[in-house]
Amino acid sequence: MTIFGGIEAGGTRWNCAVGDGGGTIAGSESFATTTPEETIARAVGFFERNGPLTALGVGCFGPLDLDRSSPRWGRITTTPKPGWSGTDVVSILRAGLDVPIAFETDVNAAAVGEAQWGAGEGLETFSYVTVGTGIGGGAVVNGRPLHGLVHPELGHIRVPHDRDRDPFAGSCPFHGDCLEGLASGEALRQRWGAPGEELDAPEVWELEAEYLALGLANLVLTLSPERIIVGGGVAGTPGLLELVRSRAGYVDVPQLRGDAEDYVVPPALGPRAGVTGAIELARRAGEEDACARM
Ligand code: ZN
Repeated sequence: MTIFGGIEAGGTRWNCAVGDGGGTIAGSESFATTTPEETIARAVGFFERNGPLTALGVGCFGPLDLDRSSPRWGRITTTPKPGWSGTDVVSILRAGLDVPIAFETDVNAAAVGEAQWGAGEGLETFSYVTVGTGIGGGAVVNGRPLHGLVHPELGHIRVPHDRDRDPFAGSCPFHGDCLEGLASGEALRQRWGAPGEELDAPEVWELEAEYLALGLANLVLTLSPERIIVGGGVAGTPGLLELVRSRAGYVDVPQLRGDAEDYVVPPALGPRAGVTGAIELARRAGEEDACARM
């Protein structure tokens, strides 16, 4: 039997799973992200108990070096997460597992999962945005995750910030009031003094929806995605996506008229999108490896 492994390597938790590449998950384990050594060792242990693997896919928090010709491919680069800058995720995993490894951003992996089994099925170009503790965004273009100079960092785009209405300076350690700095779960907590799940005042969510809609507008105008999938804990707040959609008339096309409910959508795979996509990336890496050996 062929077993593929997937890791959704988040800054808060790592979710590990195995599957046969057919879209279902045969076993999984989730644990808190601690030090690189301890966290990666737990992942290796899970796959040793649930293997042997044919290949492994990793959807990792970033920023990452995804350039296969770079000596630093497979590493996390300059993350504000203490202890993780420069971590050579792929080399450490390979030392423990010795299988082909695909390495992607967490949001691109989730996009691949949705492309194959979820809300991105049949689309050539769409985007996956996550709004949780931070904000990230990736895209699938012609069936493949979008890379470029580095990879998209949609969380850090700039949106208009009216300081008279919202004097909060923003929570991003790099930019202050970028989209993540204004609309992430961390921004909600710092601005309003409580985590999102404890906030129910209408003005909280009106402002949140406005920033997210402005962020998505930038995305519509640059990448022109056929759909935008919005996942993550904050995005799952009841009623929020409806508020975002109500501000979605950026371009005069039928998809963005009315309530845009088929345009801005939650992930069909829910919280499994990332790890399901990571398993699909493993399946593709296994295929490439088999071709290279022929
Ligand atoms: Zn930023």
